[in-house]
Parts: sequence; structure tokens; C-alpha cells
Amino acid sequence: MAEVDEARPHADLWAEVHAWLDESWDPDRSVDEWWKLVANAGWTAPHLSVEQGGRGLSRRSQAVVRAAFADHGALRPPGGLGLLMAAPTILTHGTPEQVGRLVPPILDGQVGWCQLFSEPGAGSDLAGLTTRATRDGDRWVITGQKVWSSMAAQSDYGMLLARTDFDVPKHKGISWFAFRLDQPGVTVRPLREMTGHAVFNEVFLDEAVCDDADLIGGAGNGWAVTQTTLHFERTGIGAGGSHAGFPEPGPKGGMLGRRAGDAALDEAPNDKLTLGYPDVARLARERCRSDDPVVRQDLARLYAYSQLGLWNAQRGKAEARRGGGQAVASIGKLTQTRIVKLAAKLGMDILGPDGLVAGAQAVDGGVFAEAMVFSPAASIYGGTDEIQRNIVAERSLGLPREPTPDRDVAFGEVLRSRAKMP
Ligand SMILES: Cc1cc2nc3c(=O)[nH]c(=O)nc-3n(C[C@H](O)[C@H](O)[C@H](O)COP(=O)(O)OP(=O)(O)OC[C@H]3O[C@@H](n4cnc5c(N)ncnc54)[C@H](O)[C@@H]3O)c2cc1C
Repeated sequence: MAEVDEARPHADLWAEVHAWLDESWDPDRSVDEWWKLVANAGWTAPHLSVEQGGRGLSRRSQAVVRAAFADHGALRPPGGLGLLMAAPTILTHGTPEQVGRLVPPILDGQVGWCQLFSEPGAGSDLAGLTTRATRDGDRWVITGQKVWSSMAAQSDYGMLLARTDFDVPKHKGISWFAFRLDQPGVTVRPLREMTGHAVFNEVFLDEAVCDDADLIGGAGNGWAVTQTTLHFERTGIGAGGSHAGFPEPGPKGGMLGRRAGDAALDEAPNDKLTLGYPDVARLARERCRSDDPVVRQDLARLYAYSQLGLWNAQRGKAEARRGGGQAVASIGKLTQTRIVKLAAKLGMDILGPDGLVAGAQAVDGGVFAEAMVFSPAASIYGGTDEIQRNIVAERSLGLPREPTPDRDVAFGEVLRSRAKMP
């Protein structure tokens, strides 16, 4: 996809970013202005080609650049699901017109995106989705319900999957839309989670509309487009990326109108929901538990998982360049589940009862308790661990496919538990 320059040493890149920031970082600019400047210089997604808005560097460069921004005290480039998933999907399957119109506002943080895939009756069996899109001239009329839609209340666009043809087998009648959320016919209802936050939403679509110009990859080709989106989601999770992706872009992300210097100060080191080896190793040292044999054993296990995750991500990149890597992305996602759950448990083991304290009195602002209550999600989001194991079994190990009696049947003929479809 992008021109890469793997040979470029990171030390040079680190120095180059710092030199650019010495010249350009001005805390008195608005976040809006700052992100436009950052995107113009190609720092939001430096791994993209120059024509695509990047700098033609390696995929690893994105993490190096963000770390250099934080090290300099500058507000990092925008994050979010648009950058993680929508941009690479549109770059892969969109027309030049769609790429030119939809990708730049992602790179300069002007729009926020969410993922509108899962439905009450379609999660693991995503291809069983029933949200209906009906063509009406040069637009589509869409009715249905989505659920688990992270950040939908803060987003401007959704990566929307809808069924455009009920007369063909289920994988063949799906389409992928770049869908505007701010319109009549769209109701976004936040759901409060056990973490105390309301990241998820239900999204109700009642004759909402989407221009044909925003159909990505062609009608009925949405399953292939979806594989690209899921690949980038799992690769991002496998590389340890935060699902929420701070800092949040778009007008509803709440950042654009702020002074960039203030926003940078608010970028607390504990802005993440999941933890890794460095967080827990530091905690063990600070709490004088590094010599405890049980803690050491789990720390060693966590370190091993982290290294395996790193090497697996490198292998995934090599396979992706050869046009493969789906099973490797699934292994990366499985490894990350282990890391997230073990790090959360170990943090609590080290803290003991102190780990239960919330609010201002909590150790590190309560980040360990937060990680603990979020950790069960790791084996679910991005496709459950069971589904990742199925993918590895079928696509990598060559084991027999799961029986799918409805695979070649017209979707409208398939028996479903939901009595009524939109
Ligand atoms: C933190 C978080 C964020 C999320 N964000 C989004 C989002 O932004 N957008 C979005 O669209 N979705 C999102 N999701 C939804 C997520 O993708 C789904 O929850 C997931 O795909 C599972 O679907 P389900 O919940 O319907 O479970 P189900 O599919 O009903 O599965 C229930 C259980 O059955 C198992 N199972 C199902 N089928 C099989 C099988 N064939 N073989 C073996 N086991 C099986 C599953 O592994 C699971 O344990 C998010 C989920 C979480 C936890």
C-alpha cells in the first residue's frame, strides 16, 4: 500500500521529528490549526506514501513519531478509529475521488469515525447482518440497528455495513458505506459499561440516507472491503494500540477548539485502558515486589508474551507485503488478549487492597483498577478469541472449515431467530 523505507534508522527519525517540532510547535495555536500543520507535514500517518499524505516511511515510524511528539511535550497527531481502520480501508478500496475527499479530513483530525458493524443478531456471525440498504436513485435508504458502536456519540462518520441484496448468499449481498451520522433517521443511544464509562452505543437507523458516492468498493463487495477493515483493526490491537485511540479527532471529540498547549498537558501518560509489561514492571519496582517469586514469574510470562507479540507483528508486516497475514493478525490479537488480562491481574496482585481505591486517592490515578474492569473486553472486541482461533485453524493450519449450511443459500431464505427484519 505505502512506499516503505525500512532501512531508515529510528534515531535519525527521532532527531528529524524533534528538529521539526523545535521549528513548528506553538502551544498557543488551536488544536485545529496544529493538526492541519502536522498533517501537511505528513506526521499523522508517516507510513503512507507522500501522495497519500504521509512521508513514505516504515509502518513502525508512526509509533516513533508519536513518542517523539510526547517526548517534546507537543500534542500528538490525531488518533481514532478513522485513522486506524477507515483510512486504510478507503485507501485500499476507494476510488481516487473517495480517497481525495474522505482521507485528508481523517489525517488532519477534522472528523471522527466509528465502526458500525455489529448488530444485536450479528457479532461473530457478522455476515448475518440484517440492516437493509435500498437504492433510491443516486442514494441509499438505510434501516436497521447497530450495537457495541464504540465512540458513535463522538463521531461524524460510521464505517457502516448494510445488506444491499437479500437474494444472494449472505457474504455476497453486503456493502460498506462511509456513512454520515448527523442526519434525521439516526439515533445514537449511549450504553453505560461496568467501567463506569459510556464508550459503547446503540445506533438506530430509520430510513437514514447515504449517497451512492459514499459506497466504498462497489455494491455487494462489502465482505471483501470488511476483511481489510478487520485486518487493520486486529493488526492495530495486536500491536498494542488503544481501541479508543487518543487524542480524539473531530468537532465532537472536544479537542479542535482548544489551545494546543492545554490539550498536550491533558495528555496524561495514563490515558489508556489497557496496560503492558512496562507499566506493571514499574509498579512492581515501586511497590518493592520485584523480588517476590510469584510476581517475578508472572512478570517473566508477561515479558515473553510482549516479545512474542512484537515478533509476531513484524512477521505480520512481512506477510502483508506478500499479500497474506490474516492468520498472523489473529495470532497478534490473541497474544494481546493474554497481555491485557495478565497485566491487569498482575497489577491487582501487586497492589492488593490498594487496587480497589478509586478517585484522587488511587495509585496512579486509578489506572490499574480501570485496566482490571476493562480487561474482560480484550477477548471480545475485534472479533472474539474463539473466532480468531477458528481463523488460524482454517486459514493457516488447513483444518476443516466449520460447517456453514447457510453459506450458499440466498440470505432471504435463511432461517433466523429474529422474526422480523427491517
Ligand atoms: C470493548 C469493545 C468494543 C467494541 N467496539 C465495537 C465497535 O466499535 N463496532 C462494532 O461493530 N462492534 C464492536 N464491538 C463488538 C464486537 O465486535 C462483538 O462483541 C464480537 O464480534 C462478538 O459478537 P457478539 O457480542 O454478538 O457475540 P456472539 O457472536 O453472540 O458470541 C457469543 C459467544 O459465542 C462464541 N462463538 C460465536 N460463534 C462461534 C463460533 N463459530 N465458534 C466458536 N465460538 C463462537 C463467541 O466467541 C462468544 O464467546 C466491541 C466489543 C467490545 C467488547
